Amino acid sequence: MRLDVGVLTVVTVLLVLLATRAGVRLVRGRASSWGVGVVAVVWWTVLAAAAGLAEAEHQVTQQLATSVTVMVSGRPGAVARCARRTTDMLDVSGNAGSVSWDTPDVARLRADTCAALWSWVMSDKTHPTTDQVVALHVLAHEAVHVGGERAEATTECVAMGWDATVARALGASDAVAEQIATAYREQVYPTMPDEYRGAC
Ligand SMILES: [Zn+2]
Repeated sequence: MRLDVGVLTVVTVLLVLLATRAGVRLVRGRASSWGVGVVAVVWWTVLAAAAGLAEAEHQVTQQLATSVTVMVSGRPGAVARCARRTTDMLDVSGNAGSVSWDTPDVARLRADTCAALWSWVMSDKTHPTTDQVVALHVLAHEAVHVGGERAEATTECVAMGWDATVARALGASDAVAEQIATAYREQVYPTMPDEYRGAC
């Protein structure tokens, strides 16, 4: 597993260090009082745990998205990158995902897309929401781009053929995977801009 180091990674490490330091000070009797020492340990531990959970979500989602991208694109070196919330705020493209032709092996997914993928992975995988259906499809769509297809309408069509397989790879039963593919094809695809349609 490749670790993607971002601001949150650094913050998590710092918070763990601060929690550890507070613990050491308490144990060695160096806190200004026992009460203040305990509060410091609890405070830094809670913050470190919150940051650590968010960081783990980022790393795990990105790893799962990468494995799907490799499967769909057929490129062993392909990777998926989940945008960090900090950089995502600066992206005004309106795209849920993208592939830059300067780095054709990298599927770039918006933070909301990865959040929806994570919510799917953590769900009981029986009642996919529209956001989850779209996120699973966006993952397939960008992976088809990574596979070398540039035309949007063709990419969209090929990706719809992958939707059920992608859903199964991320834990859906056969029946729910078909339901996800159908939901995208019948409810979302018809609402896509013209350049995304017409190839199916
Ligand atoms: Zn596209």
